[in-house]
Amino acid sequence: MIARELAEAGIASVVMDERNHVAGNCHTERDPRTGIMVHRYGPHIFHTDQQHVWDFINRFGEMVPFILRVKTTHGGRVYPLPVNLHTINQFFDRAMSPAEAKAFIEGQVRADIENPRSFEEQALRFIGAPLYEAFFRGYTTKQWGLEPSKLPASILKRLPLRFDYDDNYFSHPYQAIPRAGYSAIVSRILDHTGIELRLGCRFEDVTEEFSHLFYSGGMDRYYGYSLGRLGYRTLDFRQSYHEGDFQGTAIMNYPEEEVPFTRVTEHKHFAPWEASRFGETVVFHESSRACGPDDIPYYPIRLVEETSMLEAYEARTREDRDVTFVGRLGTYQYLDMDVTIDHALTAARDYLSRQVE
Ligand code: UDP
Repeated sequence: MIARELAEAGIASVVMDERNHVAGNCHTERDPRTGIMVHRYGPHIFHTDQQHVWDFINRFGEMVPFILRVKTTHGGRVYPLPVNLHTINQFFDRAMSPAEAKAFIEGQVRADIENPRSFEEQALRFIGAPLYEAFFRGYTTKQWGLEPSKLPASILKRLPLRFDYDDNYFSHPYQAIPRAGYSAIVSRILDHTGIELRLGCRFEDVTEEFSHLFYSGGMDRYYGYSLGRLGYRTLDFRQSYHEGDFQGTAIMNYPEEEVPFTRVTEHKHFAPWEASRFGETVVFHESSRACGPDDIPYYPIRLVEETSMLEAYEARTREDRDVTFVGRLGTYQYLDMDVTIDHALTAARDYLSRQVE
């Protein structure tokens, strides 16, 4: 995105990626056995309320409207997510109206927690202990490898709590998946005479000098881990093939701690416009663990109590005027795709305005 904006303003750049494909963790490709479009590094659903981001991505490929409806299996029963009136009524075996459910949940929450700091406090304040224990505690412990009392409230704030039957996972007005996959979109973004693409190119091996660097790797990696390693979670995907339809939906979560995976994704359901074409199905059992030196970092862990190493790295990034740190790894933030695009467009604009001064 940055390179595209600069290229359109007449500034040439080189885009490097150590992998042999574009699009980073959004990378999609056709599964060689079935032909199903697979989100190789886990599912990505594009959603935004930012008109300019939506306009930008639509310039480079067709975005097909897609509403994500996640299910979760607890105690041998299937419930809809995010927690909505259907989840509440099924879980408590009731038939409450929106107002009744609201009053019911208000009777379960810890109203005395005024300023929830941790994930757990946020859950107990707004969702209440029974729903938290069933759907969030186990999943979050598996996903992050930490007690939810040590995680920031911001992680839970990603998910709404609804007192109606809306089971749309997101609340944004634009929600879509590219018809030809994310990698096709990124390839078109990079298709400009002002952009040179180098794949299979490790940043550490680059010796050329550039007037400016936009860096989307880990900020700790950029500084050679000199202040220590920031904590990340990595993901493992166990791939399997099945006849027909495996689970009848794209994402099924497994919040129980005894179940060794967090969720199961069935990728043909991310492309419902072509799903019926495939007799077979490809499925991924996804689990999370601490990210080691040779693993792919996916999720930055922002511990509530541990911010000093991050602050020291951030101070260094501010001093380095010739480098702009971008993206989930570059800023060590749990960013969604649309926010990442917005930041990238802003970074390009800021750079261009500095050239004019
Ligand atoms: N979460 C949970 N139970 C679920 C789904 C999500 O406890 O069934 C928590 C979990 O801590 C997760 C966070 O909510 O990391 C954010 O969920 P989201 O679906 O946004 O995660 P992502 O798809 O980015 O992995």
